[in-house]
Amino acid sequence: MEKLNLTGMTLEEMESLIESIGQPRYRAAQLFNWIYKKGILSFDQVTNFSKQLRQQLVDLAQIGLVTIEKQIVSSDNQTNKFLYKLADGQCIESVYMIDRKRRTVCLSTQVGCALACNFCATGAMDFKRNLTAGEIIDQLLAIQRTLNVEVTNVVIMGMGEPFLNYDEVMKACDLISHDKGVAIGKRKITISTSGIIPAIKRFTDDGQRYKLAISLNAAHEEKRSQMMPINKKYPLNELMNAAKYYTSKSRHRITFEYVMIAGVNDGMEDALKLAKLVKSLKCKINLIPYNAIDNHQAPPSEEKINAFIRPFLNLNVVISVRKSKGVDINAACGQLYNSFN
Ligand code: SAH
Ligand code: SF4
Repeated sequence: MEKLNLTGMTLEEMESLIESIGQPRYRAAQLFNWIYKKGILSFDQVTNFSKQLRQQLVDLAQIGLVTIEKQIVSSDNQTNKFLYKLADGQCIESVYMIDRKRRTVCLSTQVGCALACNFCATGAMDFKRNLTAGEIIDQLLAIQRTLNVEVTNVVIMGMGEPFLNYDEVMKACDLISHDKGVAIGKRKITISTSGIIPAIKRFTDDGQRYKLAISLNAAHEEKRSQMMPINKKYPLNELMNAAKYYTSKSRHRITFEYVMIAGVNDGMEDALKLAKLVKSLKCKINLIPYNAIDNHQAPPSEEKINAFIRPFLNLNVVISVRKSKGVDINAACGQLYNSFN
């Protein structure tokens, strides 16, 4: 019989497991803490359990779902990119970034992505499958263990579209924020979506407190469809209504990401249109100068970026330019691809 994998199990699931082997329920909370807080990989490490209980667990279960195959460190030592292998042989990536006191991991949610945005390396791969909650949280646990660090922030912005794998992504976030586990606060976890409208509504109605980011990337309906084919299914005007629904109901700010590509969406007309689109929303704009994935497109010049920002300065909208981290190791936004090239 294949052994149960405990990575990805909720506390309640561990409680039923522990009770099913005739052990007291409180042991489950201890086990949960060993797995998610201390990041153990072997039941031998559970020193406060009897030998008998440890043996019961060894016979029944195992820990860990992803194996680090490779790790690359950027030249400034501030970014590490990890390549993992999954049990079925598929590969995924995640990234660890240091920025002063902040230690952020960027996690993947799918193997590949079906949405094929034309500026994204993940979009150029085929979609293979969704990740399980265990595979999502284990990327973080493996990084903490390998680098001996405590992660402070999580961005769900790696490979894949998180809102097309909603249940497993929310389960993973709930495990990451659980106070007996990794215990990263919900407002330190950001989920980025390309704009899956029904999931944005569900996220709002569920009263989720995780931070929400939407990859806007264009303020024109047609331009957005060219860049992001998903816009044909979930058009910009409806997406903005969903964003408004979220900000008014949750009372939280929303972040709009905008990948700036030279000659594509970096003009003054684009900036004015974007300003008009977002000005009535409680929001923040994150400009991401395009990170090259091929020779067809390039990032804008600094002057273009500065000019683009100008129309927002009089508005009640925070706008910032995301520093590109890990470009020299292809670990920056949009560069995640499952072969380490
Ligand atoms: N699928 C989700 C989350 C992963 S993509 C989404 O699209 O939001 C994470 C972010 O990287 C998105 O904001 C996306 O627009 C951005 N991105 C993709 N390719 C990029 C590239 N080549 N350069 C800069 N940012 C890119
Ligand atoms: Fe998928 Fe996001 Fe890349 Fe688009 S930008 S292809 S939605 S991962």
